[in-house]
Amino acid sequence: MPKATGENMRKTGFVALVGRSNVGKSTLLNALVGTKVAIVSPKPQTTRHAIRGIVNDPRGQIVFVDTPGVFDRTRDPLTEALNREVRGSIEGIDAIVYVVDPTRAVGPEEHRIMNLVQAAKVPTVLAVNKSDLPERERPFVYEFERLADKFRAVVAISALRTRNLKPLLDTIFELLPEGEPYYPEFQLTDIETKHWIEELIREKVFIQMHDEIPYSTTVVVDQLEKREDGMVSITARILTSDERHKKMLIGARGAQVKQMGASARRELETALQAKVYLDLTVEVDEHWVSRETHR
Ligand code: GDP
Ligand code: MG
Repeated sequence: MPKATGENMRKTGFVALVGRSNVGKSTLLNALVGTKVAIVSPKPQTTRHAIRGIVNDPRGQIVFVDTPGVFDRTRDPLTEALNREVRGSIEGIDAIVYVVDPTRAVGPEEHRIMNLVQAAKVPTVLAVNKSDLPERERPFVYEFERLADKFRAVVAISALRTRNLKPLLDTIFELLPEGEPYYPEFQLTDIETKHWIEELIREKVFIQMHDEIPYSTTVVVDQLEKREDGMVSITARILTSDERHKKMLIGARGAQVKQMGASARRELETALQAKVYLDLTVEVDEHWVSRETHR
């Protein structure tokens, strides 16, 4: 495919959701990310921040990340050192969505976060949340709106009712640099995804069993689904050609298979950005070789 240029160039970047607790950051993240599961390729991450969710769009990709510690620190005062720390902590972040709750007064904590956001020196969008509530329950809207010139944009949203999220996304895409997506987009239903998971588990088997059982094993994913609670449920079998290898793969009281399952699950959780339930068992399948060639 020809590389996109100019107006067709896609936008990609890391975006931090910042704000006091209970302003609606998690609700907003869920509303923006929806139910799509993005698979993160297992190559080293280009950011040192934890990824919270990914939005894929024809315009590009937004990677929402955590900025651990700094923005939810509760101590004062705002010092130069702290500013430096903020600059360090937002390294690699392309934009900030600063979420505020106009039902609560702008107190010292809000001012401190506001100052940190300003110190960050990356484009910031102010998202004034909870616009679904009646005006009388949002007496501090003006307090925030009058700060408009300090931000690249101010958007009134309702994370809960998913209102006005499109203008918010439009603004974020405008602010992001051009580039190809950091993380490839797959769906859980893709056959490649199933194979990718089988390979990932198989790799754990080889790492743990060393050369003891090199090529007499394969992995089959029988069931793969995202449950309503967001958890990804996987049923997989390690197939081996003989009974002796089966015993070794299971280990004493199931210790081996348990450990392989645990390390596979950890990597899958990072990659799928979801809690993963992995049911992993070991079976003898003498027809393993022919099955593999017929797949
Ligand atoms: P966080 O601490 O910033 O992550 O905030 P949460 O996302 O956990 O939300 C805190 C509370 O605010 C929850 O009870 C949400 O249901 C509620 N909330 C979040 N967004 C909205 C909104 O747009 N409107 C209203 N009315 N409530 C909201
Ligand atoms: Mg939260």
